[in-house]
Amino acid sequence: MARIGVFICHCGTNIAGTVDIAKVVEAAKRMPMVVFVDDNRYTCSEPGQASVREAIIENRLNRVVIGSCSPRMHENTFRRTIASVGLNPYLLEVANLREHCSWVHSGDRVAATAKAIELVRMAVAKVARDEALFPKQIGLTKRALVIGGGIAGIQAALDIADSGHEVILVEREPSIGGRMAQLDKTFPTLDCSACILTPKMVDVAQHPNITLLTYAEVEKLSGFVGNFNVEILQKVKR
Ligand SMILES: Cc1cc2nc3c(=O)[nH]c(=O)nc-3n(C[C@H](O)[C@H](O)[C@H](O)COP(=O)(O)OP(=O)(O)OC[C@H]3O[C@@H](n4cnc5c(N)ncnc54)[C@H](O)[C@@H]3O)c2cc1C
Ligand code: SF4
Repeated sequence: MARIGVFICHCGTNIAGTVDIAKVVEAAKRMPMVVFVDDNRYTCSEPGQASVREAIIENRLNRVVIGSCSPRMHENTFRRTIASVGLNPYLLEVANLREHCSWVHSGDRVAATAKAIELVRMAVAKVARDEALFPKQIGLTKRALVIGGGIAGIQAALDIADSGHEVILVEREPSIGGRMAQLDKTFPTLDCSACILTPKMVDVAQHPNITLLTYAEVEKLSGFVGNFNVEILQKVKR
């Protein structure tokens, strides 16, 4: 049975100046499976985090919602906070009441408060369905695929190859170069396009870490970051 704790952060006046925190707290108390609700002036501060830890222990909370800033800012902080008292760190949801609410609706307290309540409601619904996650390590192949041999793909391939990793550069046309190979001079400096491009094309062809597949296309891509599987169609025999 989920026992959800909800903590609403004022962020000084960043959130509390626009959102009626007391109304959000009252609404959260009526949400399903919510057994504890509190508000803090600065939840990320040490006293703020301590009050979250105490509430988890005293109320036997097993899931937590923090209504605060963007998860980019403090999701990891709060994951560590709840993990320090034995909760799985992924049984946490952050409702973004600042960047997604108070900062963008500062002229309308009523609408901002209603939206904040909905954001908290969504986070509560999600955290109730969250499952404990456990990080694991898997092997990865340090080889990169670059699709498209225009100037962007050429430079990316060279940068990765120069840093010591193997690169497969796939270009669907018979030659790399892309748009830039079609230009004479480039705006705004009126540099000679070929003078910039061709040395890089030669570097790609000669680089020991780069395998260049021209007149080839990616047919199928599966897997995930660190472990992609790619099928490449070579259109003519090389
Ligand atoms: C007419 C014109 C004038 C321009 N003038 C200027 C200028 O004066 N100054 C300036 O700075 N910029 C200029 N640009 C812009 C500049 O050329 C482009 O921003 C730049 O070349 C883009 O490089 P890119 O590598 O991102 O893409 P592209 O050069 O388009 O290269 C993409 C490459 O990927 C390949 N590719 C695409 N899909 C696949 C696939 N599925 N599988 C395999 N290969 C694939 C394509 O064949 C191509 O070789 C101009 C562009 C045009 C069209
Ligand atoms: S948790 Fe985020 S919203 Fe709350 S005080 Fe810290 S920075 Fe502000």
